[in-house]
Amino acid sequence: MSPSNTSNAEHYDVAVIGGGINGAGIAADAAGRGLSVFLCEQDDLARHTSSASSKLIHGGLRYLEHHEFRLVREALAEREVLLAKAPHIVKPLRFVLPHRPHLRPAWMIRAGLFLYDHLGQRKKLPGSRGLRFDARSPLKAEIRRGFEYSDCWVDDARLVVLNAMAAREHGAQVQTRTRCLSASRHQDHWHLQLERADGSSFSVRASALVNAAGPWVARFIESGLQQKAPYGIRLIQGSHLIVPRLYEGEHAYILQNEDRRIVFAIPYLEHFTLIGTTDREYRDDPAQVRISAEETDYLLAVVNRHFKHQLSRASILHSYSGVRPLCNDESTDPSAVTRDYTLALSASPGEPPLLSVFGGKLTTYRKLAEAALQRLAPFFPQMGPCWTAAAPLPGGEEMSDSRTLAEQLRQRHAWLAPKLARRWAGSYGSRAWRLLEGVEEPADLGEHFGATLHAREVDYLCRQEWAREAEDILWRRSKLGLFLSEDEQDRLRSYLDAATRQSETCVLAS
Ligand SMILES: Cc1cc2nc3c(=O)[nH]c(=O)nc-3n(C[C@H](O)[C@H](O)[C@H](O)COP(=O)(O)OP(=O)(O)OC[C@H]3O[C@@H](n4cnc5c(N)ncnc54)[C@H](O)[C@@H]3O)c2cc1C
Repeated sequence: MSPSNTSNAEHYDVAVIGGGINGAGIAADAAGRGLSVFLCEQDDLARHTSSASSKLIHGGLRYLEHHEFRLVREALAEREVLLAKAPHIVKPLRFVLPHRPHLRPAWMIRAGLFLYDHLGQRKKLPGSRGLRFDARSPLKAEIRRGFEYSDCWVDDARLVVLNAMAAREHGAQVQTRTRCLSASRHQDHWHLQLERADGSSFSVRASALVNAAGPWVARFIESGLQQKAPYGIRLIQGSHLIVPRLYEGEHAYILQNEDRRIVFAIPYLEHFTLIGTTDREYRDDPAQVRISAEETDYLLAVVNRHFKHQLSRASILHSYSGVRPLCNDESTDPSAVTRDYTLALSASPGEPPLLSVFGGKLTTYRKLAEAALQRLAPFFPQMGPCWTAAAPLPGGEEMSDSRTLAEQLRQRHAWLAPKLARRWAGSYGSRAWRLLEGVEEPADLGEHFGATLHAREVDYLCRQEWAREAEDILWRRSKLGLFLSEDEQDRLRSYLDAATRQSETCVLAS
């Protein structure tokens, strides 16, 4: 590295590698404490594990069996914290657990649910109770008893984007489609070599480096930093199916399988049911992960063992797959590997610190970020205190719940279709008012691409939420990919290509 390059590079307090939930959460927390922050993401925000989850903010009932009490307590408490921070994208969800006496006796489930009700703070979410199913139940006739308890649902990819926005609103520099090729220590700072998608390169300096590269965390330490990773990482693949709505009602099911694993069936986007997940060891490129035929059959079999309505491969509308970057605890069973996180700090006296994130869950990202900042605190004596617990995420300000907000949007804009009002309220929260600034009639929404997607929203996503390609909009900023035909998706692609060429609409407000 030439010294002149080093001195020309922008200097930040903290550079974060990875725009998944952990990188975005740490960047937001650090920026809000007054640190200057740089975040780079090699693809789109939430492009990998953080958009491939079961989308639950949950304590993890099943982790009690593995004695993960610390994790469960922290995760249970986070449910109501996140519900208050982001009431537009986090929603309470009741879970029905059909009783399968040969798998777990009723006393064991009751004991687990008692702990679940009382381990974490719970003010709004109702507690658990027993259930009896009658002939109207969608479950098979032999399943007559069950239990019900509370957790929450989250739009996972939007949780990441909102944290990146929060970071930016506190002054952070967020660069998507920018890969960190390498980083090296130079006296009191790190020097990062970065490459944009167009092949151009640049560098930045930082007083501390955070490696939140998810499935790539160990690989980056070894190849990007030329060091030995302090912990092993286990890549555990998990896949989901999306099928037409399988049952009436707003509740989810947690299904116990014969192998003692559990599978969720979750109401999804009004019209669908989301089914997942699997747990299998994964050794290939995390960017290429795809659902296997075996996983598909496994998920269909679990559902078919429980529901009267039988599914086949032909029922599947969509599927997705991701890899959990878990800290290797040497468990032989992939579903028993700890879901807790580990932070590894490396810094000899006088050296700039490196903090690497191993494991974690969407649910605990905020606590993970607080723990990360606590580890970095000795290096930044001027840093502010914890602040994220009570601070709304962008769009969570001045709103109670998305149903009420959708009604308010329609009271002010009577022409707004109820579907669109509901979707915008549930995606953008109170930022939906900004989307509607200067919009007085349907024509002001601009070109219509299909379903409820118009140019007005596409432009907003490009300007405010780092969207660049159709997939960013169809599968992460929204899930409209399930509703737009191939032709409609192509039209969106042409629109974005033209906009990029003109370099007008897709300029990030950074
Ligand atoms: C199937 C499945 C279901 C799950 N369900 C739940 C759930 O219901 N609830 C829950 O709480 N948790 C759930 N999880 C766990 C949760 O999704 C993950 O813990 C979390 O998303 C991990 O986030 P991350 O930021 O560590 O990783 P990622 O989201 O993968 O982010 C890491 C990012 O780093 C980027 N990156 C890597 N290398 C570089 C580089 N050199 N330069 C720039 N960028 C780089 C990658 O592109 C990636 O976007 C689930 C996980 C899976 C796989």
